[in-house]
Amino acid sequence: MNLSYDKYIVAFSGGKDSIALVLYLLDLGVDPCKIELWHHDIDGNDEAFMDWECTHDYCQKFADAFGLEIYFSWKEGGFKREMLRDNQRTAPTWFETPGKILKKVGGIAGKLATRLKFPQVAADLKVRWCSAYLKIDVCSIAIRNQERFNGLKTIVLSGERGEESTARSKYKIFEADRSDNRSGKLNRLVDRWRPLRDWKESEIWDIIRKYRVRVHPCYYMGWSRCSCKFCIFGNADQFASAYKISPIQGEEIMGYEERFGVTMKRNTDLRSLISCGNAYANITAELARQATSKIYDQQIIFNDNEEWVLPAGAYGESCGPQ
Ligand code: SF4
Repeated sequence: MNLSYDKYIVAFSGGKDSIALVLYLLDLGVDPCKIELWHHDIDGNDEAFMDWECTHDYCQKFADAFGLEIYFSWKEGGFKREMLRDNQRTAPTWFETPGKILKKVGGIAGKLATRLKFPQVAADLKVRWCSAYLKIDVCSIAIRNQERFNGLKTIVLSGERGEESTARSKYKIFEADRSDNRSGKLNRLVDRWRPLRDWKESEIWDIIRKYRVRVHPCYYMGWSRCSCKFCIFGNADQFASAYKISPIQGEEIMGYEERFGVTMKRNTDLRSLISCGNAYANITAELARQATSKIYDQQIIFNDNEEWVLPAGAYGESCGPQ
């Protein structure tokens, strides 16, 4: 792999695969000054609706612990605003630029459309709109609208692994990114690299153990993926666990299902799903507090006198994108 890029942007969700990506770059000897972590806030700048409260600050603290730059970006109003589109345009995108200067793009053109339903559990991003609208588009809009990438060679790394689904096992490991403009007048070269596509989960935990990283609290409670707290891909146990931790959020989400008359899952409504699930046994009041606090107050790297412990959710049931 040619490592002569000017910028290495890591799509950083705060989950184990994105952590492994960062650590892998450090293992390869990439200059930390060239690495940027980019986190897309699913709920925008608003109160938690789908996501974990601590995720934003966990990502910030992770970047701080490794001395890396982090930039946050989001769609205005986040998941809820996009879900509630009623003959409206999609909302503007906000992103941080160097010096923590905020920039806003879009929201004034584009077609009027109505959603009034949750993203549907499917591989097709047209119906599973959350990934496309709240992550993929936000990332490319933020690259295309920053002159600092013009004339440079940038590589965007994302942590999809083939073990997660057949579709992901067929993703290209290396290709031009959708924001690439190498032959255009901006001379903006942007590649996409998925170096973890063929990694096993054991390799992910091995590199996290090597750097003694404390992962997101959801893993210690039993989640095998750090996605939204109420991710549409969750199974009965995951939804029952999320509901146990955040019943008010859960009721709000179920209320929208009833209002829309369209369920999130094809074959069940969330109330029935939750009633057949069992909340994870490793949920403790302290871990729930950490996960639902806006400030993440644990150390990212374990102290030398502490034992690195494999989280309860490691190698668990994987309910994720197809
Ligand atoms: S984590 Fe789940 S709910 Fe959240 S954006 Fe991704 S697919 Fe959608």
